[in-house]
Amino acid sequence: MLVVGLTGGIGSGKSSVASRLVDRGAVLVDADALVREVQAPGGPAFTPIVERFGRGVVAPDGTLDRQAIADVVFGNTEELAALNAIVHPLVAAGMAERLGELAETDEIVILDIPLLVESSRQSAAQYVIVVDTPEDVAVARLVEHRGFTEADARARMKNQASRRARLDRASFVVDNSGTPADLDAEVARCWAWLQTL
Ligand code: ADP
Repeated sequence: MLVVGLTGGIGSGKSSVASRLVDRGAVLVDADALVREVQAPGGPAFTPIVERFGRGVVAPDGTLDRQAIADVVFGNTEELAALNAIVHPLVAAGMAERLGELAETDEIVILDIPLLVESSRQSAAQYVIVVDTPEDVAVARLVEHRGFTEADARARMKNQASRRARLDRASFVVDNSGTPADLDAEVARCWAWLQTL
């Protein structure tokens, strides 16, 4: 097993790179998917979150209202720390379990971790792929394809590690400033690099 972290700012194209790597044969361990899993009704984070943040974060259908939680923690260090203290250990345990299952295989395992640079979870990854996209290009894509307002996209970016901090951690940089076809070529280059490790 080779474990490689994948990170990038919001709208950089991280998910697009992850799915292209999976198409080529990589195994994806997706932190966001694990977060959703532990927060689902019946998941281990559900009750602790409701106890900490109140019934107001439960949607009418009984699932957690991600937007309501985001509204509480966004820009509030204390509330965010409380949420992370519940969710992060459970996600880390889920990741460790998945990696344990893959440990004896020859798989190339991609750890998709949005906040890789900000968190301490990079320890499992032997190398780090950074998807790098100019901020204005990422904002334009978030507005066009994902329904963000420009102000919201920029606010989220400001809350993340800087482009420079991320690039400083990179073992390999995927440039996603171009077209989807350009990204295909960048991912081909990345896949070739992965074969050399
Ligand atoms: P992230 O996972 O980093 O937030 P996504 O992979 O979801 O980013 O990309 C953000 C949006 O931009 C998506 O709608 C995606 O389809 C689109 N996108 C990604 N790369 C490109 C590109 N090179 N050209 C045009 N649109 C792109």
